[in-house]
Amino acid sequence: MDLSFSPEDLRFREEIRAFVAAELPPAIKHKMQAGIELERDDYVAWQKILSARGWLAPNWPVEYGGTDWTIVQKHIFDEELAVGFAPRSLPFGVSMVAPVIINFGSEEQKQRYLPRILSSEDWWCQGYSEPGSGSDLASLSTRAERDGDSYVINGAKTWITLAQYANMIFVLARTDPTAKKQKGISFILVDMTTPGVTVRPIETIDGGHEINEVIFENVRVPLENLVGTEGGGWTYAKFLLEHERNGTAGVAGSFQMLDRLKEIASEQRYNGSTLMQSGDFAKRIAEVEVRLTALSFTQMRALAAESATKSPGLESSYIKITGTEIQQAITELMMEAGGYESFDDRSRNALLYFNFRKTSIYAGSNEIQRNILAKRMLGL
Ligand SMILES: Cc1cc2nc3c(=O)[nH]c(=O)nc-3n(C[C@H](O)[C@H](O)[C@H](O)COP(=O)(O)OP(=O)(O)OC[C@H]3O[C@@H](n4cnc5c(N)ncnc54)[C@H](O)[C@@H]3O)c2cc1C
Repeated sequence: MDLSFSPEDLRFREEIRAFVAAELPPAIKHKMQAGIELERDDYVAWQKILSARGWLAPNWPVEYGGTDWTIVQKHIFDEELAVGFAPRSLPFGVSMVAPVIINFGSEEQKQRYLPRILSSEDWWCQGYSEPGSGSDLASLSTRAERDGDSYVINGAKTWITLAQYANMIFVLARTDPTAKKQKGISFILVDMTTPGVTVRPIETIDGGHEINEVIFENVRVPLENLVGTEGGGWTYAKFLLEHERNGTAGVAGSFQMLDRLKEIASEQRYNGSTLMQSGDFAKRIAEVEVRLTALSFTQMRALAAESATKSPGLESSYIKITGTEIQQAITELMMEAGGYESFDDRSRNALLYFNFRKTSIYAGSNEIQRNILAKRMLGL
């Protein structure tokens, strides 16, 4: 893989930079710069702007509305969005359920759901985890029972990100309780306006409302909302998780946070100079920067391999672990660099620090990713 930027790539970078500068609404940019939580309308407004330009789903095949960009161009695109303080596109529709529908869904599902993701008519959320089933996801107990031309779903999902904004949820549910646990699971698309679906907020340690419980009580879903084959859900669920892990590394966002960290460290006085000039602190920043730069190349290599095999593969576990460790290291350094100000638990540094504790847990905890790597690489 050629990692150097060609003149064409540099022109592409200019094009994206100019687009973000011209099109990103100032109010959204301000929220991003100040670390203020975005609302539903902010995400939708930006997604519509990207979609109108044909850039909401760069990784999709062109025939469904994706792009024919190279891996390097996709990388540049992510970088420029982060540098310009544009919100990241929410992954649940574009990067999670869409690849499953494209690879395993029916033609009707592709025709119905993909355009609605591109137009932001549908906001998806991910219904995997349950109160008793997180790391051991295959033990899930939400049931989907056939009744005539419907499934009837009962159960509870938890930690569901931004479910308060969603009108669609993809659910892992047990359709055959007699089968071996991985075999009896199906992947079902559920309209959240169906009677029997309840969303309850969960407050996080940073005081935010990012996650929710979603309860299903006799929720009737047409049989055609099953993706692929009944009992095949575990295969699709794992495929989706690999896509999710790659996305959680947040490389472009980490570069942006690193810039902010350097700014804070340059403003903070320490023993007659600035913190940035203090050898010890500067060394710790440099160590994170080196790790992050190495990760960005590893991620590009993995994306290049993925475009050939159509599946992210084992690297996604390594990328998830390293990317989230880097995010946590940067937000810790920001806390330290912020000094007295960081003691205010509503300060931006403190909020970021608290918020980023989640990243080593979600998308399959880092301990579980190490188990996956150990099993596959060491043949355990
Ligand atoms: C902010 C946030 C957003 C989330 N969003 C969503 C969402 O939108 N949709 C969704 O479905 N889920 C979501 N999740 C859930 C997330 O996927 C789970 O929290 C995660 O899989 C861990 O499951 P658990 O919380 O049940 O912890 P547990 O599985 O109970 O694990 C507890 C601890 O034990 C460790 N552990 C467990 N098993 C092992 C093992 N075999 N070996 C070594 N260590 C182990 C874990 O690493 C962890 O540290 C979200 C979570 C968070 C924090």
